[in-house]
Amino acid sequence: MAENCKQIAVLGSTGSIGTSALEVIAASGGRLQAIALSAHSQFDRLLKQAQEFQPRWVVVTDPQAAEAFDWSALPVDTELLTGSEALCEVAIRDEVDLVLAAIVGRAGLESTWAAIENKKPVALANKETMVMAGPLVTKLAEERDTVLLPVDSEHSAIFQALQSGKSNEVARLVLTASGGPFRDYSTEQLKNVTIAEALDHPVWEMGPKITIDSATMMNKALEIVEARWMFGINAERIEVAIHPQSVVHSMVEYVDGSVVAQLSPPDMRLPIQVAFDYPHRFMGIASRMDWQHGFSLDFWPPSESQLPALELGHQCASAGGTSGAVLNAANEAAVGAFLAGELHFTEIVPACRSILEMHSFDANPTLSQLIKLDRWAREEVTRWVCA
Ligand code: NAD
Ligand code: MG
Repeated sequence: MAENCKQIAVLGSTGSIGTSALEVIAASGGRLQAIALSAHSQFDRLLKQAQEFQPRWVVVTDPQAAEAFDWSALPVDTELLTGSEALCEVAIRDEVDLVLAAIVGRAGLESTWAAIENKKPVALANKETMVMAGPLVTKLAEERDTVLLPVDSEHSAIFQALQSGKSNEVARLVLTASGGPFRDYSTEQLKNVTIAEALDHPVWEMGPKITIDSATMMNKALEIVEARWMFGINAERIEVAIHPQSVVHSMVEYVDGSVVAQLSPPDMRLPIQVAFDYPHRFMGIASRMDWQHGFSLDFWPPSESQLPALELGHQCASAGGTSGAVLNAANEAAVGAFLAGELHFTEIVPACRSILEMHSFDANPTLSQLIKLDRWAREEVTRWVCA
């Protein structure tokens, strides 16, 4: 083992981010190591990862499914832990130097929270935790004197661009958005979108939930809220620009008018690596820009059909309190219902808006209040689907 090797708990290792993270670790020349892996399904993949990376722990969060699987080929020094509580147990072990929160959705909340509470630096891909409980999460990180390192490509770009000036010199954050597969669709065309079409993103290969979020623009809405809390910037100073090539990952505009952007080909291995190795950089395997062939970059304002989702993001980012948790839960449940064929594509955003409007807002909720509201919002989506 290399000296000063950083031991990373990769929570959600079988997902799109988890898999890319392991590629970054494999290419780090021993600088980074995976000390823990976790998955909720796809155990064949988890087993292969364990054989390659020889972690101390693998966590399977679905205990019944775990029991039915043959784990005899696990490396002898790898301990198998089951149940979602095991995620928190592993995240706080002394040997863990950094936790990658790459579980999708609200299921990532407790382990992310446990890691921060125990002073672990967290590379945060799980934006839903920030949307749900941003003010509490950032306050906890401050109290525990630990860092949240963004993995979301937009937030990684902003994090890097923010190093060009002081926080009181920032005028605006500009989040770029590819616009998803339906950026040129009319309202009529959107009504007939199928599950397969929505799962086919033109630029990024990602897990199903975020792919649907990108198609509805809810991903950008969630990212507005994520940026609000991660960078402590008021909602009205966060803008969105459609940029179909996904090369400029986001920008910071300073008070003097300078706009600082971060560019790289669309490849999540770079923001993951930046978070893993911060404040250093090493030559990794992320794709490079090719300046010897001509290309152009386009930027447009969001279209009419994209605005309703973005408005929800701005609304929750400025209201704070309980609104993020309700938006996140309603969206997760609505995406689940769409993927189950129970809700039309065009109903996802209206369902979120209606449930957000219905909830009784509290400006200073506790974590347990947010968890209760998360359940309530999911039940409301079920009611909406059945209505
Ligand atoms: P994914 O669906 O590909 O993978 C999700 C991972 O979480 C898997 O390992 C899965 O086993 C695990 N998981 C699922 N349900 C679970 C549960 N109930 N309990 C415990 N573990 C569970 O998702 P992804 O695309 O890798 O996204 C992961 C997170 O990163 C999301 O929050 C997403 O918004 C964020 N993110 C992803 C990308 C991307 O390019 N994929 C980019 C930016 C941010
Ligand atoms: Mg993103």
